Amino acid sequence: MTISTIGSLRELQHLDRRIRDVNQEIEGFDPQLAEVEDPALRLEGELGQLRRRLEQMQEDARRLHRSTEEKKERSSKLEERLSHVSNLREEAAVKAEADMLRRALEADEKDRIQLSEQIHRAELAEEDVATRSAEARAEVGPRQEALLARRTALRERAAELRARRDAAMELLGGGERRVYESFHASGRAVVVAVLTEDGACGHCFNMVPLQLQNEIRGGRGAMARCEACGVILTSEPEPEVEPDPVTEAGSTDGDAGEAVAAPVGEGAEAGAGEKA
Ligand SMILES: [Zn+2]
Repeated sequence: MTISTIGSLRELQHLDRRIRDVNQEIEGFDPQLAEVEDPALRLEGELGQLRRRLEQMQEDARRLHRSTEEKKERSSKLEERLSHVSNLREEAAVKAEADMLRRALEADEKDRIQLSEQIHRAELAEEDVATRSAEARAEVGPRQEALLARRTALRERAAELRARRDAAMELLGGGERRVYESFHASGRAVVVAVLTEDGACGHCFNMVPLQLQNEIRGGRGAMARCEACGVILTSEPEPEVEPDPVTEAGSTDGDAGEAVAAPVGEGAEAGAGEKA
């Protein structure tokens, strides 16, 4: 198997790992975008409820006002009738009605005061929530834009990686392509492994028959595969892989920090154990 075929298989293996990483990060964006908007949405919902309640109370206040005006009108008509009553019975009846109206007007006044206090408090709350809602909404824009820009960069990167994948696939023969695609389809990330110095498969570490070892070392013959795990075996050492400029620049910063921090603690504990 030629060195360039091994190179193409490795390139594919490497590209598929990157494509998978990029796609995973892209999939994470929808929940992140929703999370960014969540505080603004909640405040907007609260504001809507407050405004509907306020409108309802204002409508109640208008209705109360109309009812009070009607009672006042009736009250002044009764005053008028009182000056024209012809007997005591009629006078008593008019006075009783006037008393009832007066009590109703007093109750209206209490309701009016209570309602206007409620409206005042609701207006203050509405003002407060409206301010906080506007602030939350103003924060959403730039954060969403940053997330969307990152997603666009990742999508472009994914497209570029897929194009490179197609090109690498073109360089393979039909047999290698089928092996690669069947590995990839079954979710196996390692397709090419290096034959170890003592003649084992570099992926599953089962011993490779001597004759096949020789073929692999001599770079002769067709595609050599591990009889145990099926990977394509080569004697060409794995080349160094440079970090991906797009995926390594973003979200992995935090992980790198943790990875550095962890062994320090473990090392300290191990040291203490050795002394004791
Ligand atoms: Zn193997």
